[in-house]
Amino acid sequence: MSAFIAGFRGVLDRAGVTYGMFGHADVGCVHVRPALDLTDPAQQSMIRQITDDVADLVAKHGGILWGEHGRGFRGDPVEKFLPPATVAIMRQVKSAFDPDDLLNPGKLYRPTDSATPLTRVDEPALRGDADRTVPVSIRNDYRHAFACNGNGLCMHYGAAEVMCPSYKATGDPALSPKGRVDLLRAWLAADAAGTPSDNFTDQLAANLHQCLSCSACAGHCPVEVDIPELKSRFLESYHRTRKRPLSHAVLSRFEQLAMLAARSPRLAGLGTGAAGAALGLVDLPAPSPLPPGATPIATFDPNAPTDVVIMPDVFTGALDRATMHAAAEALQAVGQSVSVAAFVPSGKFDHVKGQRAAFAKAVQAQAKAVAAIERAGAIPIVIEPAVALLHTHEYPAADSAFPSGHVRHLVDVLHDRIDHVPVSSSPRHVRLLGHCTERATRPVSLQKWREVLEAAGHTVEAPELGCCGMAGIFGHEKDNQKMSADLWHLSWHEATHQADATLVATGYSCRSQAKRMAALAISHPVALL
Ligand code: SF4
Ligand code: SF4
Repeated sequence: MSAFIAGFRGVLDRAGVTYGMFGHADVGCVHVRPALDLTDPAQQSMIRQITDDVADLVAKHGGILWGEHGRGFRGDPVEKFLPPATVAIMRQVKSAFDPDDLLNPGKLYRPTDSATPLTRVDEPALRGDADRTVPVSIRNDYRHAFACNGNGLCMHYGAAEVMCPSYKATGDPALSPKGRVDLLRAWLAADAAGTPSDNFTDQLAANLHQCLSCSACAGHCPVEVDIPELKSRFLESYHRTRKRPLSHAVLSRFEQLAMLAARSPRLAGLGTGAAGAALGLVDLPAPSPLPPGATPIATFDPNAPTDVVIMPDVFTGALDRATMHAAAEALQAVGQSVSVAAFVPSGKFDHVKGQRAAFAKAVQAQAKAVAAIERAGAIPIVIEPAVALLHTHEYPAADSAFPSGHVRHLVDVLHDRIDHVPVSSSPRHVRLLGHCTERATRPVSLQKWREVLEAAGHTVEAPELGCCGMAGIFGHEKDNQKMSADLWHLSWHEATHQADATLVATGYSCRSQAKRMAALAISHPVALL
């Protein structure tokens, strides 16, 4: 093995190629990934020479070159490894079962009566051939689509896996991250050639409409293929020539409207159903009233700053105000003075629907709001994980100057002062249900919640769960109802119907889904502190 590997490294080093090498030493199997940029014709042309050199090396060491992964065009040098009599028998087998050479033609053996040579490794069209037709600037804009290496990790059925809910719910490969980037690259190549049909473009839009924008791919794909970002860019382009539904305009202002409506929640609740029906949205949540007896939280004053300043998000600022008040009380209980800043929309729904100019404005406004709090010497925090995570992901992706990571998650501040967490007088057995975006992109948050709850005297179990099926606006869209319900039953139903535990969930979407799917009132974990 060592002599073979040294020889292999010599082949790659002489070609000036970097590579990853791994394998199974016990059976003498080596997998090698030369890092070739196949959009560069000069690098693509190295495939044959490297393959021929490696085939000679393999033959010298008495091994065999195999096509276990990839597309399998590795049969061409087979006669270097196997004696002619063996090859002849294999060709007879091929003739017996596939006389017309229909199955994987040209890959390993031709039927006995065929004079056609096997296909050489660089003869079939390669992905690089199509990819290089897309202008470099577009390839950069959609770089996640070109980064996919096709390993298929995103096509997982496990109910507890976070990636990918739309694939798990349907079993349709086109609705996995891999399927989506394959389609996007094909569409970009057709667009570059000026040939994308309306039908193809509309089908791609329909496919992406079924993506929950949960970001599980961005967190769990080995090369961080980020479908929500690609979807956002595609939808921006798509709606340059196609009218947007009215719901997009409403969603663009949903956060401001909800905050406004929270001032008069009863009145707002009356109109929610009718407005949703008109817009193709179902089960829209109404703003919640202030919890009875809640002490108002001080307003942020830059001249008299508190230790921490809550940047309100629409979920805990309007739809679940009890959680914001519980957060303020918990922060005070660990010795932090607290105030709440003026509301600034997060722009999340603009990102989801590809309204990127409006999203860019939200990013700027958020950067200003963070800077104002930090100038005053306070720590900005966000309660809702899906919104807090925008500060480390979508915002910096939209603006590289954005102060990424300056906003802290609520649990970070509580965990920093874990020794000050008051012990509960009524300890419970708690089942902590994590938000899928948080699980995929920042699992440390759930570990911290567990430790903070344990410091308060609770016992905690935190089952591995997939997406609940809500994911912000996805579960409210009329045409997504089946998938939303299927995902609830696949991943959350069982965990929420086992007895003997107090359920808490970090995500507003998940709490909202539990309410409508199972009439369960689940609290945020901070309510137990
Ligand atoms: S999207 Fe990611 S996980 Fe899925 S096949 Fe591509 S590289 Fe693999
Ligand atoms: S965002 Fe979620 S639903 Fe969409 S492709 Fe990624 S993992 Fe799948």
